[in-house]
Amino acid sequence: MEKKNNQKLGVETSLLGFGAMRLATQKDGSIDYKASEAMIDKAVAGGVNYFDTAYVYHGQKSEGFLGDALVSRYPRDSFYLATKLPTFNVTKAAELDAMLDESLRRLKTDHIDFYLLHAIDLDRWEKMKKFGVVEFIDRAKKSGKIRRIGFSSHANAAEYQKIVDDYPGFEFTQLQINYADWATNPDTKAMYEIAEKAGIPLVVMEPVRGGGLSNPDSPAVKKIQEKLSGSGVTPAALAFRWAAELKNAFVILSGMSTLQQVEENVATFSPVKPLSSAELAAINETVGVLKSLPTVPCTGCEYCVDGCPKQINIPELFDRYNAHLFFKNTRNFVQFYPPEGKRASDCVECGACSAVCPQHIDIPAQLKVVDALYQQVSAE
Ligand code: SF4
Ligand code: SF4
Repeated sequence: MEKKNNQKLGVETSLLGFGAMRLATQKDGSIDYKASEAMIDKAVAGGVNYFDTAYVYHGQKSEGFLGDALVSRYPRDSFYLATKLPTFNVTKAAELDAMLDESLRRLKTDHIDFYLLHAIDLDRWEKMKKFGVVEFIDRAKKSGKIRRIGFSSHANAAEYQKIVDDYPGFEFTQLQINYADWATNPDTKAMYEIAEKAGIPLVVMEPVRGGGLSNPDSPAVKKIQEKLSGSGVTPAALAFRWAAELKNAFVILSGMSTLQQVEENVATFSPVKPLSSAELAAINETVGVLKSLPTVPCTGCEYCVDGCPKQINIPELFDRYNAHLFFKNTRNFVQFYPPEGKRASDCVECGACSAVCPQHIDIPAQLKVVDALYQQVSAE
């Protein structure tokens, strides 16, 4: 297993990290303990020593699973444990300590090696500061309950920069980075560079874009398969190896769901082979396919959001629509579609949004396209 010795953090981690957000499940959606425990065993045997979960994963059952399958069965000093405070659920200051204590209880441990503020954008960061998050971090570190503090973020680069500037205490960060986002979303590269410049080590999440870069229905994956046919290299392995070349990354997370995925991923990282020129060319051609798709040129600036009388989250809808065009991840598109009343079909065509859109997008017309796709995929 490829290891990364990060002197700043004082750790040696396996470059492949085990993400416990897509564990094997039963028919009713609950965690399949036997199958998932076998995955943990296989990962440990393969040299994985970084395990990432969150308070909210698997309907709040993921932490408890790791407590049983990992913490109770392996020496506590043989692995690093990462979990996340659900900043989006916090409603008052007292919940910060209570949620950390609950994570410790579920994980059956007295300390968390890597503790993250989950999914921080500027609004959430401001909210957390009002709840005394900085004092909470100091308290939790002094008591030994957390060893290192970081944050994960899906914000844009401008907000990300402000957060990094505002609190120099963050010791690591977790970002969604993969070759597709890197090439099609300027914020991805910009956020990577902000973290690198600030000297904040990186955990990469979604290196395979939630499975989108290994979905055989995706036009991107079809191109990769065409270019690499006969080489024995899988699209997922190629995406992992691309991420593994990011100099500032000390862990590349994979949310594994099957024993086979664990075996394949461990093999990919034992050790990681540098990308060949043919593989890099295949990635470049794939990016060309992605860029040629008829996506909505929304930059996520959110100028249109406040003025919508129906409170439709326009940039989020466009982002999910674009992601579906890229990766054909139908399940995500349907699962995270907004509730009735705030859907694309609820647009009353008042035009307030288009009037302020710097990209001059005909938003009502594009929302009709989004709605048509939703009608089509939700009926499948
Ligand atoms: S045109 Fe539709 S999406 Fe735009 S502001 Fe009006 S109701 Fe909202
Ligand atoms: S104003 Fe235009 S570019 Fe900005 S979020 Fe809205 S649709 Fe996207």
